[in-house]
Amino acid sequence: MGSTTLRTFDPVEKIWKIFQEFAIKPWIHFDAAWGGGVYFSEDAAFYRKLSSLSDSIVLDFHKFISAPLLCSVLLVKDKSVLVDEVTALNGNYLFTSNQNIKYSLSLKSLQCSREAYAFKLWLMFKHHGLEHFQNLIQKYYENQEELINKLSDRVLYVVEPQYFNVGLWFIPKEMEVKETITDYTAAEIEKIDQLNLAIYDQIVKDGFMKINSYHFNNLPLFIRIIVDHGNLTTDIIYEIVAYLYKIYESVGSSPCKSLI
Ligand SMILES: *Cc1c(COP(=O)(O)O)cnc(C)c1O
Repeated sequence: MGSTTLRTFDPVEKIWKIFQEFAIKPWIHFDAAWGGGVYFSEDAAFYRKLSSLSDSIVLDFHKFISAPLLCSVLLVKDKSVLVDEVTALNGNYLFTSNQNIKYSLSLKSLQCSREAYAFKLWLMFKHHGLEHFQNLIQKYYENQEELINKLSDRVLYVVEPQYFNVGLWFIPKEMEVKETITDYTAAEIEKIDQLNLAIYDQIVKDGFMKINSYHFNNLPLFIRIIVDHGNLTTDIIYEIVAYLYKIYESVGSSPCKSLI
């Protein structure tokens, strides 16, 4: 549910139907560590319904709603597995025999004494309310849309953006912007790779913004921008885009220089 690199979502229902067809009953786990923002989006009802197919879900609240580090949550359908897990740990070296079982939180958590994760989350929701987080997620979607609308010239997106991280290639000036990256020849791919590497290097050197870059499945290096920040205003997004095109112009006109 929201892969880290490409931020794509698996077709859960289709996969589930295959299990049904072969009468297989696997443990279905949703890794929504990064993608969990969808539970606070306009499509929340859809994702909640989809989640009824899973046995467990992981959510990283320190990622998509910026809870203070760390704030991971594991949800399970059958609570008894948690009790079994904790009992199975049998950590005599961690738990003294005279520990009061009734009051010891360590014995009720998978994280030993780090039960504070849940407290952080409770406090955040108590203080801000659910609506605040829904608005935040809505804002991230708007950030993403604004960025994509502005950043459309000479750019090919790795996959159609679904979430808050945006992966893209800048295409060299002498080339046409094609439908997909596989439409380019090997020599062209090499040039796209070099251009994006040079752009990325320049961004790192300038220190103007923090972004990622990725090599994926022998494709050219692509640039990944993540827009999950509530204070990201339209002005800042425009500034980012103007900056990126400035780098594109300077690097594109002398790619060799930046590759040294
Ligand atoms: C970040 C991430 C993880 C790892 O989570 P941590 O809580 O940072 O260890 C796992 N899965 C996905 C999809 C992630 O984005």
